[in-house]
Amino acid sequence: MERQRYDVVIVGGGAAGLSGALALARARRSVLVIDAGEPRNAPASHVHNYLGRESTPPGELLAIGRNEAAGYGAEIVSGRVASAERLPGAEDAGFRVVTEDGRSVEARRLLVTTGLVDELPPVPGLAERWGREVLHCPYCHGHEVADRPIGVLATGPLAVHQALMWRQWSDDVTLFLHTGPEPSAEEYEELAARDVAVVDGEVAGLEIADDRFTGVRLTSGRVVPREALVVQARFTARSAVLESLGLTPVAQEMAGTVVGTYIPSDPTGATEVPGVWAAGNVTRLTEQVVGAAAAGLMAAGALNGDLITEDTRLAVAARRA
Ligand SMILES: Cc1cc2nc3c(=O)[nH]c(=O)nc-3n(C[C@H](O)[C@H](O)[C@H](O)COP(=O)(O)OP(=O)(O)OC[C@H]3O[C@@H](n4cnc5c(N)ncnc54)[C@H](O)[C@@H]3O)c2cc1C
Repeated sequence: MERQRYDVVIVGGGAAGLSGALALARARRSVLVIDAGEPRNAPASHVHNYLGRESTPPGELLAIGRNEAAGYGAEIVSGRVASAERLPGAEDAGFRVVTEDGRSVEARRLLVTTGLVDELPPVPGLAERWGREVLHCPYCHGHEVADRPIGVLATGPLAVHQALMWRQWSDDVTLFLHTGPEPSAEEYEELAARDVAVVDGEVAGLEIADDRFTGVRLTSGRVVPREALVVQARFTARSAVLESLGLTPVAQEMAGTVVGTYIPSDPTGATEVPGVWAAGNVTRLTEQVVGAAAAGLMAAGALNGDLITEDTRLAVAARRA
C-alpha cells in the first residue's frame, strides 16, 4: 500500500468493486482496492449476458477491469480484510481497515463489495461439479445446456418454479422431489402440461464418467441419466467486514421461503453506517455481473458526492478561521 490514508478503500475486487474503483479513480480520488481474489463465478468457464464482453472468461474480465482502474491510478492489492472500524474523534475521522495478515490502512469512506457465498445442498459430489454441470442460474448457463437432459433437485418450495423455468431451455426436464415439499395438485398439473417428469425419492449422489456428470443416483439405486443438474443454493452474504462495522445481515425471502442473507442498503448502496457503502451481491443477492458493475458505479458516484460535501464544509471552515 503506497499511502497510509486513502479517500476510499474498497473491500473486494470483483465486478462491483473494480467498477467503483474505476469511477472513483477517474474522479481523482485516491483509491485502494483490497481483494481476496475469489469471485463468486470463478468456477464458471465464461461470463454471459455482459454486454460488449459476452462469453469472456471470468478471470479475463476482471483482469481487464483491474487494468482499466489501475490506468487511472487506483491501487489494487491482494489480501483479505479481517475487520474495519470507525476512527475515534470527529465525524470526518474516517475508518481503519485491517487485513488478516496484519496490514492496516485508513480511509475517509469505505465501499464494501465482498459478494456472497453459494451454500449448496448437502448431496455428495455437488461442490465438485458446481458451475460446470451443477447449476443455479438459467441466464448464466441455460443456453449452454439447451436441449440437453436437465434435472432439477428439489430442496425447497421454489423447485417447481425452477423446473418450469428451465423448461424454457430444454424439453427434457426432470424434477427430483428429493427433500422438497410434495407439489400441490395445481403444480402437478402445470408440470404435466409442460412435460416435466417428476421423480420421487431421495437423491444419493451424482454419476460421473470421464470427468463428466452423466446422471442422478437415487437412494434406491436407480440412476436417471442427466447432463446438467439445477440446485437451489443458499445465498449467504460475505458480510463479516460490514458486521464488524455494526451492520447486521437480514434474511432474503422469495415466495415465502428464506433464500439467503444480505446487508441492507439504499438505492445508491449507502448502508445504515454513515460513510460506508455496499454494492454487488453482498447487498443484492440476485445481481448479475453487469448489475454488480452498475451498482459499483452508482455507489462511487454517491460516495464521491458525499466527499465533495465534506471537502466543501472543511474548506468553508478553514476560510472562516
Ligand atoms: C457458477 C456461477 C456462474 C455465474 N455466471 C454468471 C454469468 O454468466 N453472468 C452473470 O452476469 N453472472 C454470473 N454469475 C453471478 C456473478 O458471479 C455475480 O453476479 C458477481 O460475481 C457479483 O459480483 P460482486 O462484485 O458483487 O462479487 P464477486 O464477484 O464475488 O467479488 C467479490 C470479491 O470480494 C472478495 N472478498 C470477499 N471477502 C473479502 C474480504 N474480507 N477482503 C477482501 N476481499 C474480499 C472476493 O474474494 C471476490 O474477489 C454466476 C455465479 C455463479 C455462482
